[in-house]
Amino acid sequence: MEAMKTVVLRDGKQVPALGMGTWMMGENPAYRTREIAALQHGIDLGICLIDTAEMYGEGASEELVGEAIRGRRDQVFLVSKAYPHHAGRKSAPMACERSLARLGVECIDLYLLHWRGSIPLAETVEAFEKLKAQGKIRRWGVSNLDLADMRELYAIPEGKAAAVDQVLYNLTRRGIEWDLLPWLQSQKTALMAYSPIEQGRLLRHSAFCRLAEQHGWRPAQLALAWVLRHEGVIAIPKASRREHVEENFSALQCALSPEILAQIDRLLPPPKAAMPLEML
Ligand code: NAP
Repeated sequence: MEAMKTVVLRDGKQVPALGMGTWMMGENPAYRTREIAALQHGIDLGICLIDTAEMYGEGASEELVGEAIRGRRDQVFLVSKAYPHHAGRKSAPMACERSLARLGVECIDLYLLHWRGSIPLAETVEAFEKLKAQGKIRRWGVSNLDLADMRELYAIPEGKAAAVDQVLYNLTRRGIEWDLLPWLQSQKTALMAYSPIEQGRLLRHSAFCRLAEQHGWRPAQLALAWVLRHEGVIAIPKASRREHVEENFSALQCALSPEILAQIDRLLPPPKAAMPLEML
């Protein structure tokens, strides 16, 4: 079996570099059995970091994850997110309690601010630190924060406790390579790459698919291996089918040669200047 690549968070916790996303899961009862089976298969393989959010299906994704991990909570590193308007002094404890109840757990391993809203970052830091002190979450982080927001966050006392920034990153969204990614690496803050296969669209990019096939790989394998080539980067593809989970897991076997990296750069070039962080 492939050895699982890991990322060490700033508090020393080691987590799998490959996890599983769950956006759009749990919303259609007809797919429920298949989705739960896919998540459980992933856990069996060692892809035991699961990303969800209160926003996904307005709680339906968290409930599905709760069902999938029942009886195996200890094997899983759970990530969930609060809406920006639930990241305040009064709202965060209530939102977190609702997420804990839907997930059926006592504690969330990593709790993220889903994106920046109107509540001041300092208030969110205070609220998340309190949840940590109460044992409701083990650590916290942010999502969709660009470099200027991250600098502002890290200027706040205890803001540097943010363990990750979860952002859009894949072969067609390379803007963060210019500044945000190197900065996060310099701060020893992990980057969680969401939509690492561009919600499936990358797998319909014909020139990219040809390149993958020339090297004997499936396009999803290459797309994920490419994201995971960086130190400190976690990829969270969503796959609701067992065979997709297996294919994504096998990305850990793909070693990228300088030749293939150069071919990729010609096809889907890196940024030539700073650009605003993209979001989906
Ligand atoms: P994604 O992971 O890039 O793509 C998911 C799509 O790719 C699904 O349609 C899935 O199909 C398909 N797929 C997965 N593996 C495949 C394979 N090996 N072969 C063929 N198709 C495959 O997109 P995403 O769901 O937007 O992003 C991943 C996760 O990141 C989300 O689920 C969510 O947890 C998180 N996210 C966070 C934010 C944020 O603002 N923080 C935003 C977007 C996403 P099947 O489902 O049929 O397997």
